[in-house]
Amino acid sequence: TYVVTDNCKGCRYTECVTVCPVECFHVDAAMTYIDPENCIDCGGCAPACPVGAIAPDYRLPAHQKFWIDVNRKRAAETPVLTARLPPLPGADDRRQALGR
Ligand code: SF4
Repeated sequence: TYVVTDNCKGCRYTECVTVCPVECFHVDAAMTYIDPENCIDCGGCAPACPVGAIAPDYRLPAHQKFWIDVNRKRAAETPVLTARLPPLPGADDRRQALGR
């Protein structure tokens, strides 16, 4: 499955939702999460994310593995995101700070 990680927090550009063919994405006030039960591993969302927040679970470095459980848990607790939202305030500044 693909996993949303740190960089989404505070940005939440939501380009991911426009490419996902199976409505995997859930959302809260801070970021998006991928429902691992629905993800078909198409890989479309990873290059679509402007801040590189999304990666397949097997490629996550050790310090980011915890995001696998966070995505599973939060996807179960939050609504499905079906259309793009405006990025969070300060997203562009944060994106620059990330060197993206
Ligand atoms: Fe959706 Fe494909 Fe990304 Fe999985 S890998 S969340 S199916 S766009």
